[in-house]
Amino acid sequence: MTDPVDLKAIEEHRKNPFKIAQAQLQEANKYLKLAPGTLATLMEPLRELHVTLPVRMDDGKVKVFKGFRVQYNDARGPNKGGIRFHPDETIDTVRALAAWMTWKTAVVDIPLGGGKGGIICDPKSLSTGELERLSRQYVRQVGRIIGLDKDVPAPDVYTTPQIMAWMMDEYYWQKGFNEPGAFTGKPLEVGGSQGRGDATARGGIYCTREALKLLGMPQDKNTYAIQGFGNAGQHAAVLMKELLGESNKLVAVSDSKGGVYNEAGFEPQHLLEHKMATGSVVGFPGAKPISNAELLELKVDVIFPSALENVITGDNAPRIKAKISCELANGPTTPDGDSILCAQKTFVIPDFLANAGGVTVSYFEQVQNGANYFWSIEEVHERLDTKMTKAFHDVYAAHKQYECNMRIAAYIVAVRRVARAMEIRGWV
Ligand code: NAD
Repeated sequence: MTDPVDLKAIEEHRKNPFKIAQAQLQEANKYLKLAPGTLATLMEPLRELHVTLPVRMDDGKVKVFKGFRVQYNDARGPNKGGIRFHPDETIDTVRALAAWMTWKTAVVDIPLGGGKGGIICDPKSLSTGELERLSRQYVRQVGRIIGLDKDVPAPDVYTTPQIMAWMMDEYYWQKGFNEPGAFTGKPLEVGGSQGRGDATARGGIYCTREALKLLGMPQDKNTYAIQGFGNAGQHAAVLMKELLGESNKLVAVSDSKGGVYNEAGFEPQHLLEHKMATGSVVGFPGAKPISNAELLELKVDVIFPSALENVITGDNAPRIKAKISCELANGPTTPDGDSILCAQKTFVIPDFLANAGGVTVSYFEQVQNGANYFWSIEEVHERLDTKMTKAFHDVYAAHKQYECNMRIAAYIVAVRRVARAMEIRGWV
């Protein structure tokens, strides 16, 4: 008798972000044909640290949290990547995100590697004081492996400029001197860069602009829907109109509590005000409720998956009607979802290209911190546009040359650069 098939385990495996990241790399390697030792090195993180974080809570008791920092590959320069605070954080999610950071810094050709960190916690249930103590405790633990020349964290899901300021400050007390470039995404008052706040979304909109041109679509007559109304999603809502034309129409948005739809279009600023006042977009006056799943299947020109991983899969991909999917979130599409989107000619701007604007301006922040001289907002925008547009067209050229989908094309461009750096350094 054969063992019963564990469908749940298969499903878990299928949705494990790190397994997905590894599968994507192997798929790209069908074109890249890396030497076995090079591929094997790139399939795993070079280093990772697992930490235990005892934190004194407001009630006087000590609560223990788990955290991670993964340094995936620093052949092209110091590791770089955000820190997430999330109740569902896992080491494999952090590994996948660190791998994607490695490809992201390479695809936009900035001299950095890839890292990621995370703490398993529910930040919404923590007071400001608890959040500060947890952030500082994380730096007490990972401080030994981070720093300007080693690994530079930044904000990510549920971490903010304020959290970066606490972390940067804790690092200062640890070291005994200021090293502002060791954390990016800081508030302007303590060494942040102009333009960091909306950089991720802005980079995605620059890519969308280029995609619209290639597809022969107008810049300013598009409908769009945004899943995830946080940092990335909110700015995309505004910038799609501000940069590409006010007549672009935002018809649906969602967050973790649900979504809203209005055929006539939303004014992004009004949605922002409603979310500020109530904590969610749900209940926006005059809008119809819509689920997160329904939002992705709307007949719109552009969707922006801007929340979490694995939202476009083999199950719902056949129902996706958008012409462009601009992936501001990391890992929103599974490989089986990808195959379907490719076959039905949905133009995907893959995550580590679409959302690379954030790390690019983080890199600008480091450069400015190093020089102790700060650029104007116009200068930041111009340099970001140049980087993103070049990266988009590098990927599009590989997509045409290798006749593969845009995600694999992005892998080809990025992985080749990392592999080459490892070879030149004599690692492989
Ligand atoms: P954020 O914490 O500011 O916002 C996340 C948003 O997603 C919130 O509106 C939240 O309500 C919503 N959300 C959470 N769970 C959801 C669910 N199950 N369904 C629908 N919505 C849900 O985070 P962010 O910084 O905007 O990051 C969003 C995505 O973009 C992540 O995948 C992140 O890794 C990626 N990203 C962000 C940046 C950046 O600079 N902020 C850079 C690169 C990539």
